Amino acid sequence: MQVGKYFLSNRRARIYLDAIAETSGQYGFPTVLTLAGLHAWLEALPPYNDTHEVDFLDFGALNAMLVKMYGPRAGRAMTQWAGRVSFMALTPYMDDLLNVQAASFQAQSPAERVRAVLEIVVDSRRLGNMEASLQTSGDQFMYMLDPCPFCFGQHNAAHALCYGAVGFLQQAVEWVGAGDHYMVEEASCAATKSLQDSGCAFVILKMEPYND
Ligand SMILES: [Zn+2]
Repeated sequence: MQVGKYFLSNRRARIYLDAIAETSGQYGFPTVLTLAGLHAWLEALPPYNDTHEVDFLDFGALNAMLVKMYGPRAGRAMTQWAGRVSFMALTPYMDDLLNVQAASFQAQSPAERVRAVLEIVVDSRRLGNMEASLQTSGDQFMYMLDPCPFCFGQHNAAHALCYGAVGFLQQAVEWVGAGDHYMVEEASCAATKSLQDSGCAFVILKMEPYND
């Protein structure tokens, strides 16, 4: 187990934790932290700054415990929502990089708009020291996190754990106005494997338009 090797930014983790606290409630949240062994966060949650201090192992343990305690369906909903909230909190920063309101941007195809936002997400080192990458195949995309902060340190899990990343990416797709055209799924989760030295892959799937 690689303690203290990979870190998320405090702010990135805190925004996610705030969303989890809101949905798990006054009693649920401390219980999750206790069962996941995250005792330091019972005393104080990470501050709202950009220092990289939240160990991926702690973040992975949180997500695994949410799925264990609330079940895959509710755990997935909670973490996916926290991922959406995380992207929403980043939009002022994203606004500096991509003017989604510009007519020239809106005139681009959904695939071009999705590619533009994914390239920014991949390059964003301020969120933590994960290695993200993007593969493009026509108008389909695959986003990879290796290592993945959402499930780091977890293995042999019965279910994929990284719905925080799914929600984050889905919100990014919607932010560029392509929510009717693309949906995000986790294609492969490192936590479901016995080896922990692999990453997670997310597909940004082009949906066929409805024919009325
Ligand atoms: Zn993962």
